[in-house]
Amino acid sequence: MTLSGKTAIITGSNSGIGLGVAWELAKAGADVVLNSFSDTDEDHALAKQIADETDTQSRYIQADMSKGDQCRALIEKAGACDILVNNAGIQHVSGIDEFPTEKWDAIIAINMTSAFHTTAAALPMMRKAGWGRVINIASAHGLTASPYKSAYVAAKHGVVGLTKVTALETAQEPITANAICPGYVMTPLVEAQIPDTMEKYGMDRETAIKEVMLTRQPSKEFATTEQMGGTAIFLCSDAAQQITGTTISVDGGWTAL
Ligand code: NAD
Repeated sequence: MTLSGKTAIITGSNSGIGLGVAWELAKAGADVVLNSFSDTDEDHALAKQIADETDTQSRYIQADMSKGDQCRALIEKAGACDILVNNAGIQHVSGIDEFPTEKWDAIIAINMTSAFHTTAAALPMMRKAGWGRVINIASAHGLTASPYKSAYVAAKHGVVGLTKVTALETAQEPITANAICPGYVMTPLVEAQIPDTMEKYGMDRETAIKEVMLTRQPSKEFATTEQMGGTAIFLCSDAAQQITGTTISVDGGWTAL
C-alpha cells in the first residue's frame, strides 16, 4: 500500500512511539510532520533524515501540545492533514491525595485535550480532501486502570471517548477515527528503566523484564514502535475503511486478563 501524496501529522514524534510511527508512515510514502515542544537542530535533522531516506517531503514543526492555540497552529502550519496521529503524552505517578494539581492539568492537556484541538483543526482539511484517518495513541490504560496513575488513566479513557465521538461525527464520510491501545512498548525511556529495575530487585535483565516490568503483559515481551507504525498503516488501508470508533489493543494480551 502506498501513502504517497498523503500528509501525516504525528504529535510528540521526536522520540519513542511517535517517531516509530512517523518512520513507518514515511516508509509507506507519506510526507510526515514531526512535532514536539522543542525546536532544536536535532529535531529538524531527524525530519531531514526521514525525508532523505524515504524520499518524502517530511519536516519538523514545533508546537506545544499543552496549549490549545499551538495544537491548532500545528495543523494550520502543515497546510494539509490526511492522517492525524495524536501521540504526545507524559506521565506522573502519585496517589490521588498527593497528586500535584499542575501535573494533573498538564497530563489532561497534553494527553487528552490536545487531541480535541488537533482533530477540530484537521477534520475540515480531511473533508476537503475527501479522505482522512484519525489515529489516537491511547493505551491499555484507556481500557483498564492502575493505581497512582489517576491523570494518565483519566486522560487515556477520555481519548477513547473522543475517538468514538469523532467516529460517529464522521461515520458517513470517508474518514475513520480509531485508537491504538499499546501495552508496554520498548522505547528509549523504557530501555533506560531496565538497569534501575535490575539493581533494585537484584535480578538479571531477562528476569527484571519478565517478572517486574511486564507483570501485566502475558506475552512477556515488549511491543515495538514498528508494530505501532504497522498498526497505523493498517488503519490507513482500504481494508480498514469500515473500522471506525474502536480500539485496537497491541498489548501482548494485557486487556484479555
Ligand atoms: P516518549 O516520552 O518517548 O514520547 C513522548 C513524546 O511526546 C515525545 O516526543 C515528547 O517530546 C512529546 N511531548 C511531550 N510533551 C509535549 C508537549 N507539551 N508538546 C508536544 N510534544 C510533547 O514516550 P512514548 O512512550 O513514546 O509515548 C508516546 C505515547 O504513547 C504517549 O501518549 C504514551 O502515553 C503512549 N503509550 C506509551 C506506552 C509505552 O509503553 N511506551 C504504552 C502505552 C501508551
